[in-house]
Amino acid sequence: CDPLDAAAIAKDFPILAEQVNGHPLVYLDSAATSQRPRAALDAERDFLEHANAAVHRGAHTLAAEATELFEDARAAVAGFVGAAPEQLVWTSGATMGLNLVAYSIGNASVGRGAPASAGLALRPGDEIVTTAIEHHANLIPWQELAARTGAVLRHIPAHDDGTLDLDAAAELIGERTRIVAFTHVSNVLGIVNPIAELIALAQRVGALTVMDACQSAPHLSLDLPALGVDLAVFSGHKMLGPYGVGGLYGRAEVLEAMPPFLTGGSMITTVTLDHAEYLPPPQRFEAGTQPIGPAIGLAAAVRYLDGIGLDRIHAHESMLAERMRAGLVEIPGIRLLGDAAGAPRVGLWAFDVEGVHAHDAGQFLDARGVAVRVGHHCAAPLHTRYGVTASVRASAALYNTTGDIDTFLDAVSGIRPYFGL
Ligand code: PMP
Repeated sequence: CDPLDAAAIAKDFPILAEQVNGHPLVYLDSAATSQRPRAALDAERDFLEHANAAVHRGAHTLAAEATELFEDARAAVAGFVGAAPEQLVWTSGATMGLNLVAYSIGNASVGRGAPASAGLALRPGDEIVTTAIEHHANLIPWQELAARTGAVLRHIPAHDDGTLDLDAAAELIGERTRIVAFTHVSNVLGIVNPIAELIALAQRVGALTVMDACQSAPHLSLDLPALGVDLAVFSGHKMLGPYGVGGLYGRAEVLEAMPPFLTGGSMITTVTLDHAEYLPPPQRFEAGTQPIGPAIGLAAAVRYLDGIGLDRIHAHESMLAERMRAGLVEIPGIRLLGDAAGAPRVGLWAFDVEGVHAHDAGQFLDARGVAVRVGHHCAAPLHTRYGVTASVRASAALYNTTGDIDTFLDAVSGIRPYFGL
């Protein structure tokens, strides 16, 4: 496909013109939060300036306009991942989406939503399988669900090169497995996981699949229904959209069977003082006033991504990842986490700088205008696995140029010498 012109794309992102510490900003922290193009910023602002109103049931013109924009946004964001509008539940982000799923299953496990939800109920001794490389958002909700239901949490291990051990996965996913939860792309390793294989292993035993698509949705073309995954989550702010909005995709039968998590206004059909009947999905999971402006901003963001094309974006980011790797491996004392030869990846590398704490390395880079993330990136067990408490993570997006990568590499090469190493 046609290579994209990242320098021209960067001009659509006002913040990328900022100077930081006297240097042009080189933003390599998109895995934490992406920057927003003018189109997404304007869409939310236009809504607030011209059509702002609470959606649904309003008797006035603005409410009708807002409802139309909000439901159009749902269709756009659902379409972005290959789904139908009714398969897309608005959330506040991936963390909320994963908690929604875990709490809904927890509710099914205590008999809520029965009989439709009975198939989702967990019993003591049932197994939830996740991986050893998850973000805490796709780990702790399952720990909590296991603790509440007596289910057992098991973890697919990773090889030293960061790829998942599929042989171990095939052994772990068995008759007792009810849920298999995994990330599409690790936010530390950048490797695209073999999700088709994981989904097939789960389907073989009839387990529910839950995918964290936070780090793939902005970088890879997704067709969630074609993948066959049951549930998947993503965050708007990582895909050029606003904070406070995200999506939970679900297969129709699965969403239909799930009891609600949050309850209250906007998710009911009839209510008495003692009882309530719930709307079908997606509204069943959308209690309370939704993030209407952010949803409209996110729709503009995914239209922007689609306008450029995910295949071109992926090709560009793969090229940046390769350029980063080629430079980093030449710098003495840099150890990449998850340097799997030939593994498909997004434009992200985490690394350890021998003898220098990640926070010091991050500050050194910041002084040169290079924004990276340091710490355990909400994946503490994965860092423990690599024998470090923290790493430096550089993550690129469609607006990063090869020049950005070269500035970054040049700065990284100065870290150890600066600390006398
Ligand atoms: N999963 C992954 C892989 C992530 O990278 C993140 C964000 N760092 C999350 C989940 C949580 O996303 P949010 O904080 O937007 O809910």
